[in-house]
Formats: sequence, structure tokens, C-alpha cells
Amino acid sequence: MPRPKAPAAPRCPRCGYDQSGAIATFTESCPTTGTCSECGLHFRWRDVFFPDRERIRGFFEHARGFWPSLWAVPRTAWLVARPWAFWKRVQLHMKPRLGRAAVWVLAALLATVLLRGTLGSVDFLMASANPSSGFVTRYWMPLDPSNLGVWEWVWACPPFDARTWYAGGMGLVMWWTDGWVPIVLLATPIWALSFALLPQTRRRAKVKAAHIARAFIYSCAWLSMLLLPWIFQYLVRLAEFAATNTPFPSLFEWARYDPHWLFDVFPLAIAVWLWLAIWWLFAIRRGFRLQHPTAVWFALWVINGLAAMGIWVLAYLIQIRAVIG
Ligand SMILES: [Zn+2]
Repeated sequence: MPRPKAPAAPRCPRCGYDQSGAIATFTESCPTTGTCSECGLHFRWRDVFFPDRERIRGFFEHARGFWPSLWAVPRTAWLVARPWAFWKRVQLHMKPRLGRAAVWVLAALLATVLLRGTLGSVDFLMASANPSSGFVTRYWMPLDPSNLGVWEWVWACPPFDARTWYAGGMGLVMWWTDGWVPIVLLATPIWALSFALLPQTRRRAKVKAAHIARAFIYSCAWLSMLLLPWIFQYLVRLAEFAATNTPFPSLFEWARYDPHWLFDVFPLAIAVWLWLAIWWLFAIRRGFRLQHPTAVWFALWVINGLAAMGIWVLAYLIQIRAVIG
């Protein structure tokens, strides 16, 4: 088999170690697989020689041109929402394009904000036209389209309900300290940092910083997931209005939740926290292909749990101080 034309310096997909030494030992033929002498990764030589050979359809990092990229925004979201699928497709030898990854996170957030704002505006306009119907904005909003404060709330998209928004002050302190905001906000970098600093990953597996950065950037996607309950809620209320003449199926009664649900966002906090844990589990197992992935993941999980508890205690101290002050 003729030796394929190799790029300047073929490197290990995981740690970036120069493989020219190993290649120099190929004499008559080129083996199909190899092992990195630095980090122990088993790889296929074709992935080392031609890292851009494979492109994932619909993956934002691999999309070319404006329209394919635009279409890749929701398709990548569908991948990211399922960490097991994402890390099965996105493999070590696919060079991380961190700029594009960051653009995707922002594009997904922008798309969700626009969708939520549009649905919120429709909900608000229909509520002001039909004050007796069960729209989201009906209960605690001045139903006056000329009131700019309401538009501010509908579009500024704060993930808390209008009562908190209007109460301000102590209400906002409590919203922050009661819950999930500081915990999941800090859990996101803590997962990446603790992974990067763990001896198992740093000294033995030597995972390149770019791979960790890629996992971190996509893990920020929960910022858009945060808005999904709102979108769901608006859609349910609008569907309910569209079906005024037919009774709303009792099956969906649970979906008519009050926005207060979002004031007590503890379930959302747990969901996002768990999603982060699952995201890193599959990143470590399928993405970075570490040895003993579950043990590594569990160590990180414990670090995160302790950090979350610390943040929780701190948040309550802030709240107690605010009450006393
Ligand atoms: Zn290596």
C-alpha cells in the first residue's frame, strides 16, 4: 500500500503528540491503526492523516456557507441536547473549531430569545384583546400595549416571573440566592476546570486544551434550554385559546402551570445540573475516550457537588445579610 500524502506533522488526535517518529518506522506498508506513545490513545491512521476526511451533516462546526450554517443551528442543538449522540459523532480527530462553536452557542441563544419574545408578544397582545382568557400575561400584567414596561418584560426575557421582576430589590436577591442561578452558572466552568486539572486527564491522558474548550463551549447551551419551558408554556396557552370551543383535554391540565412554576425554579436547576453531568460523562467516555471514564467522571461529579453545596451556603449567607441589612 503506498504511503498516503501526509500533512506537515501528523499528530495524535487527543494529546497532539507528533507521530512522525512512528511513521518513520513504516517501511513497506502502513498499518491501519496505531497507539500514541505519549497518551496511549488507540487511533486509526487515516484519522491522523486526514483529520478533515469526515464531515458531520448538520453540525455547525462543519457547515459551509450561510444557509447551511443557519440550518445547522437547530440540527446542532438537537445533537447537543443528546450528549450521547453528540459525543458519538464528534470525535477526537475532528479538529475543534472553537470560534464556530461559540458562534453556534450565541446563535442558538438568539434564536430561542427571538422565538420566546415573539410568542410572548402574541400572548400579550391576545391577552389584552381577550382579558378573560387564560393567557400567560393575563394574571399579573397591566394589559396595556402602550405600557413599555410590559414590552420590556416580554422581550428582555428574564428567566423569572413578572412579580419578581416588578418587585425588584429583595425579590431579585432572593431569586438569585434561592436557587439555581449561581449554582448552574458556576457549575458550567467548574466541570471544565476540574476536568482540565485532574491528574488523570492532565498527566496521563493529556487531553488537548482545545478539546476541553470545545466541551465547555457547547455545555453553555443550557442558557437557551432555560427558555424552553417559557416557549412550551406560551404554546400551551395559545393552543388552549385556539381550542376554546372544545374542552382542553384533561390529559394536558398539568401543562397549564402557573408562571409561578418559574419562580420556584428548583426543578429546572436540577435538570440543568444533571444535563451538565451527563454531558461531561459522555464527553469523557465517548468524546475523549479516557481510561476508567466512569471513575474520572465520578471524581468530577463529587467536586461539583461540593462546589454546589458551597455556593448554596454562600447564597444563603448573602440572603441572610440582605435581610438583616
Ligand atoms: Zn496522544
